[in-house]
Amino acid sequence: MKPILFNFTDSELENYIVQMGQPKFRARQLREWLMRGAPNFSVMKNIPETLRNDLDAVAQTLPTKIIKKLESSDGETTKFLLELPDGEQIESVLMRTTYGNSVCVSSQAGCAMGCKFCASTLLGLKRNLSSNEILSQVLTAQWELRSARNSASNIRPNGDANNGDVSHIVIMGTGEPLQNTENVIDFIERANSTLGISWRRITLSTCGIVDGIDRLIEWGRPINLAISLHAPTDELRSQIMPINNRYCLSDVLSAAWRFTDLHNRQLMIEYILLGRKDENGETYLYNATPEYAEKLSELLSGKNCMVNLIPWNTVDERDFASLSGNAVHRFQDILIKNGIHTRIRRERGTDIGSACGQLRLNNAK
Ligand code: SF4
Repeated sequence: MKPILFNFTDSELENYIVQMGQPKFRARQLREWLMRGAPNFSVMKNIPETLRNDLDAVAQTLPTKIIKKLESSDGETTKFLLELPDGEQIESVLMRTTYGNSVCVSSQAGCAMGCKFCASTLLGLKRNLSSNEILSQVLTAQWELRSARNSASNIRPNGDANNGDVSHIVIMGTGEPLQNTENVIDFIERANSTLGISWRRITLSTCGIVDGIDRLIEWGRPINLAISLHAPTDELRSQIMPINNRYCLSDVLSAAWRFTDLHNRQLMIEYILLGRKDENGETYLYNATPEYAEKLSELLSGKNCMVNLIPWNTVDERDFASLSGNAVHRFQDILIKNGIHTRIRRERGTDIGSACGQLRLNNAK
């Protein structure tokens, strides 16, 4: 396997370059390109062509390599299927929004959590990602944004740093970040210190690992926390999220309120609205009945939170059904009537492929 220069420390990179008979300052130039997300050596125009060719023969730039890239027809969303050095595959998504450019990153290859509605867990957990592998997803998106603005030959390593770059990060792709907590914390620290992304523009989403939330409290950075709730009772939640058998709803929410109280932040609640088909093929409400909307309201009453309602994205391997817009709005109306801040998440890039985890899944078939 070729060495990945992004994984080298500054002194390791310098030694590597010096051993190739090159002056030390080339290592600094290389580092600048790597931190911009350069996908290969040929784009590094301030480095002599002979050295670029030599490097290309023996080394790789980043720990993630694009193997598929899909653009939504509205140009707002780009999905990447990325390959890791050991051949594992992950997904990340770049979303261009009115408030900035947001990247959704994966924290694990696959996932062990087994949520019944999710494609990412169908092949199980392969492994945790290193903080470099998570950061590389952001840099890949950054490169994409800058490349769209400049022709590759005009990109300068230090140019154009704060205009239309990645401004927000959501750790909401494949994997459970709080099963890979220390690498995720290291990644967030570096996204903040090296890319200048503020804590408040970083959101970590968990299915409810209470120990992990406690670790975030101890760590003390004021990022945003999102809880994948998806059901307002233990009975229902345990049916669709096995993690609920380990950490019950009240424990998860208590830990989440401790976190948000500490940082005076609003808690994000993720709630996928699921239907099912009866024996006649008719769709009925599963976790989206008026009763569940009332129960969810009781659970969240008086708390500083925002409920994101997520219309179900079809996953062929899962036996849920999507609901009509009316059903989604009826659920939302009950929450709003009860004073719960609620919004329906806008579906992005539906024309480029399905639910989170499906690009990888389909490629593995
Ligand atoms: S929803 Fe998240 S935690 Fe649950 S299986 Fe999917 S990736 Fe894992």
